[in-house]
Amino acid sequence: MTANVLVVEDEPAIQVLISANLTRAGHVVVTVGDAEEALRQVNKELPDLILLDWMLPGMSGIELARRLRNDERTRAVPIIMLTARGDEQDKILGLETGADDYITKPFSPRELLARIKAVLRRRAPQTTEDTVEIGGLRLDPATHRITVDSQEVKLGPTEFRLLHFLMTHAERVHSRTQLLDQVWGDHVFVEERTVDVHIRRLRAVLEVSGHDALIQTVRGSGYRLSATLSAQDP
Ligand code: CA
Repeated sequence: MTANVLVVEDEPAIQVLISANLTRAGHVVVTVGDAEEALRQVNKELPDLILLDWMLPGMSGIELARRLRNDERTRAVPIIMLTARGDEQDKILGLETGADDYITKPFSPRELLARIKAVLRRRAPQTTEDTVEIGGLRLDPATHRITVDSQEVKLGPTEFRLLHFLMTHAERVHSRTQLLDQVWGDHVFVEERTVDVHIRRLRAVLEVSGHDALIQTVRGSGYRLSATLSAQDP
């Protein structure tokens, strides 16, 4: 399981502790010291998960969580709150603000990693190595193999990531901007039509077995992978 994790924490010792443990577990870590810097970083690159300290200089962790939840682009990013407070009331406030989980300091690295894993599995399944299968199409992230009715299919790395994201978020419509964020990790410098190019390549490979029909164009909105065949835009 590899995820891009943004750590928002102002205490250097805890930054180092978290960063070292997450990196060792295979995650890619970016650390910032306050909420304003976190917003700038998120604007550049959408992380798979945010570890957010409650008590920060300037804007609080709670306020940052609230802002992220109110922004369409960042609404779905999983957040785990870190705090020195063990107060039940604070925990409730944190979860109401939209945090997915809550860890009280001091915590063990093992506990932290277990919580991250659980939240990612629930909220960002494209970062896990769980095999996904839809309509006879099977993708195994661990071995990087795709099979269609037991026949192996070869895809380029971008098409692989695109298909993985679509399969782990099936039945939902994703805009081109969302796909750039999630699959390319860059919604600023990569052009939206890049998405169309890779969708076309993906469909061309899946066309052989008729599985291209799983990937639907939703006019004016984006793309959706669906096992339910519906009236599709031409
Ligand atoms: Ca702090």
